[in-house]
Amino acid sequence: MDEQTKPTPLPEHREGALQDLLRREAELERHLIDLDVQPLLLVYGHLTGDTATLDRFAPYIKGAWGFEEEVPEEMKAELRRKLVEAFRDYAKSGRPLPPAPSTELLQKMADTAVGTHVPEAYYPMIYDELNFDGKDAKTVKWRKPPPAARLANFKVLVIGAGFSGIAMGAKLKEAGYNFVIVEKNDKVGGTWYENTYPGVAVDTPNHFYSYSFRMDPNWDHYFARGHEILNYINTCYTEMGISDHVRFEQEVVSCTWNGKDAVWDVKIRDKHGNVSEERYNAVISAAGLLNVPAYPNIPGMDDFKGPMFHSARWDHSVDIKGKTVALIGTGASGQQIAPAIAPEVEKLVVFQRSPHWARPNPLIFKQVSDSWKWALANIPYYNKWYRFLLLWATADGLLPQMRTDPNWPETKSLNAENQRIREWLEANIREQCNGDEELIAKVTPKFPPYGKRMLRDGGFLKSLTRDNVELVSGPIQKFTEHGIVDENGEEHQADVIVLATGFKAQCPLYPIEVTGTNGTIRDHWGEDDPRAHLGITVPDFPNLFLIYGPNTNLGHGGSALFHSECQIRYIMQALREMVENNIDVLSVKHEPFEAYNAKLDAEFEGMVWKHPGVTSWYKNKSGRVVTNSPWALSVYHALTAEFDPGEFEQEKADVEAA
Ligand code: NAP
Repeated sequence: MDEQTKPTPLPEHREGALQDLLRREAELERHLIDLDVQPLLLVYGHLTGDTATLDRFAPYIKGAWGFEEEVPEEMKAELRRKLVEAFRDYAKSGRPLPPAPSTELLQKMADTAVGTHVPEAYYPMIYDELNFDGKDAKTVKWRKPPPAARLANFKVLVIGAGFSGIAMGAKLKEAGYNFVIVEKNDKVGGTWYENTYPGVAVDTPNHFYSYSFRMDPNWDHYFARGHEILNYINTCYTEMGISDHVRFEQEVVSCTWNGKDAVWDVKIRDKHGNVSEERYNAVISAAGLLNVPAYPNIPGMDDFKGPMFHSARWDHSVDIKGKTVALIGTGASGQQIAPAIAPEVEKLVVFQRSPHWARPNPLIFKQVSDSWKWALANIPYYNKWYRFLLLWATADGLLPQMRTDPNWPETKSLNAENQRIREWLEANIREQCNGDEELIAKVTPKFPPYGKRMLRDGGFLKSLTRDNVELVSGPIQKFTEHGIVDENGEEHQADVIVLATGFKAQCPLYPIEVTGTNGTIRDHWGEDDPRAHLGITVPDFPNLFLIYGPNTNLGHGGSALFHSECQIRYIMQALREMVENNIDVLSVKHEPFEAYNAKLDAEFEGMVWKHPGVTSWYKNKSGRVVTNSPWALSVYHALTAEFDPGEFEQEKADVEAA
C-alpha cells in the first residue's frame, strides 16, 4: 500500500507563519537569545537587504560555527531587535517574504556570516541546495513529456533502499517512471539499518547530512545517533510514497547486458533462495560503498572459542556486560564503540594497528536546544541559512591544506595550515590522555592530518584512560582459543571479539556479477581498481548508473548525501535523454571517461591521501586513490549539473515499439 504523508512545510513556505510568530512575540524574543549570531544575521540580511548592518558585524565573525564569533553582546541584542522589527514590518505590510537573494546580496551575506570570501563558484550550488522557493531545484523536469507507453515500457531497477536508493526512487516516482527498488534487508535504511553497534552516530552535522529537499527542524542532536537517522529515513520513505515500488529481502545476484534486446537481464534471489530472471532497460546501483564488511585474515581466527562479530553485524544476543571484550580497529566505528561499551564491560582491550586523527567539536554530544528546534521550525529561512553555514563549515574550506607545499620542510604535515591543524589535534590528544606520555606517543599519528579519514573525537581518547581499558598498539600476531596474541607474543584473553575492521570499499558493486558488452566489471576494474566517468557511468556498461561510485567519497568534508543528490540529478537527466529521444542504448564513450580519470588521477598528486606510509580504505593495493573525490563540492556540483549527451554513444530505439 502506498502510504504517503506530507511533511510540514518550512515557515517561509507556510501561510501565516509570520503572523503566528508575532502572536507569540514573547516566546520569539526568549528563543532568539539562545540562537547563534551567524544564522540570525543571514535571515536578517535576506529579509532586509541591510548591507550596512552586515558590514558592521563582519569584523567580529571568524568562521561559520557559532563558536567562531566575537560579536559584542550589545550588538547581538541590537540584531535581535532589528530582526523582530523586520518580521513586524513584513507582517504589517502583507508583503510576501523575499525570494532568493540576488547574487550581490548573497555575496555580502555569505562572506559576512562565514568570516571569509565565498567564491562565486559556490553560488549555483548554494541556490540549488537551499531551495528558497520551496521547490526542489535539483528536480529534473520533462522537456517534452513522453507518451505514456514509452514510460511504461521503460523499466528501471534501483539496487538498494538506503539513503540514496530511496531518494532516487522519489525522483523516479515524481517523473512517472516504471521502477522497482530491490533491497536485500527487510527494511529501508541501508548502512543506518545495518550498523547498530553501541555508540553508532554520524559525524557530519545532520542539518546538512539530510536531504536538501526535506530539511528537518526536529533533529535531537547536531550529530545524530544511528536510530535517529534511521527514523528520519523511515519518515522520508513514508512521505515519498514509494513503498509500492520496494521489494524487500531480495538480492540482485547478477546483471548481464543483453545487446540484442538492449536490456539488462537481471537475476534476483529472494530470502528462500529462489532466483527470478527479470529485464530492465536501465539499472541504477544505490548499493552503497561501505556495506560489505572486510574481515581480517589473521592466523588462528577459527580457533577462537567465544563470540566474534563484525561491527556492522553486531550480535545483540551476546551480553557483553561484565565480560572482557577485545576490539580490533580504531577507525570511525571502533572509536565510537570503545567509549560506548567501556563503562559496562569488565575489561576492554583495544587493538590499534595504526592511530587515526580525530577532531574535537563542542557540539558532538550536544542536544539541539528547544530554542533551536523552535527557530528551525518557525523562523523563515533559518533552517536554510543554518544549512548553508554547516555546508561551508564542514566542506571545502579544508581542501587547500590537503596539498603538499613543495617548500614545506616537514614530513608529518604538508603545509603551514596542515601543521596548524596538527598542533591543534596534538593539543587535544594531550588533554584527553591526561598527559600520559606513553599513551600520547601510541595514539599520535606520524602522518599528516587527513591522511586517513578524519574522525570526530567522541570520547575515544578519554576512554583509553579508564582503568578497565588497555590499548595494544601494533599488528596482531594470531588468535588463540581464548584471545589474541600481539606482536610481542603476549596473549590478551577475551570473552568476546569485535572486528571493527572496516569495509570492502575498493570494489563497488561487489558481490554482484555485472557483465557488460565487453566482459565483467571485475575484468575492467580488477579486484580494487574501479573507475567511472564522474563516478557514475562506465564504458561498455550501457544504461548502468552508479550512485556513490568510484572516486565520489568525500575525504575532506561535506556530506555524502550532497554528492548523492548531484548524481541523482545527473542520472535523471540521462534517463530523460533516453526516454524523450527514444534512445535504447546509452553508453559513455571511452574518450571522456579516460580524460576524466586522467584529470582525476593528476589531481591526487601531492594530496595527503597519497602520502607515503599511510594505509587507508581510500587507496588500492597499488596506491591509487580509488574511493575519494579530489574535487571541491562546488566543482563536482558543476561537473554533474548538466548531463552532456555528446559524451555518450547512443542507439535509437525502434520508434514503433516506443
Ligand atoms: P575503517 O576506517 O576502515 O577502520 C578499520 C580499522 O580496522 C582500522 O583501524 C584498521 O587499521 C583496522 N584493521 C583492519 N584490518 C586489520 C587487521 N588485520 N589487524 C588489525 N587491525 C585491522 O573502518 P570503519 O571504522 O568501519 O569506518 C569505515 C568508514 O565508514 C569510515 O571511514 C566512515 O566513512 C564510515 N563510518 C562513519 C561513521 C560516522 O559517521 N561516524 C561511523 C562509522 C563508519 P589501520 O588503520 O591500520 O588500517
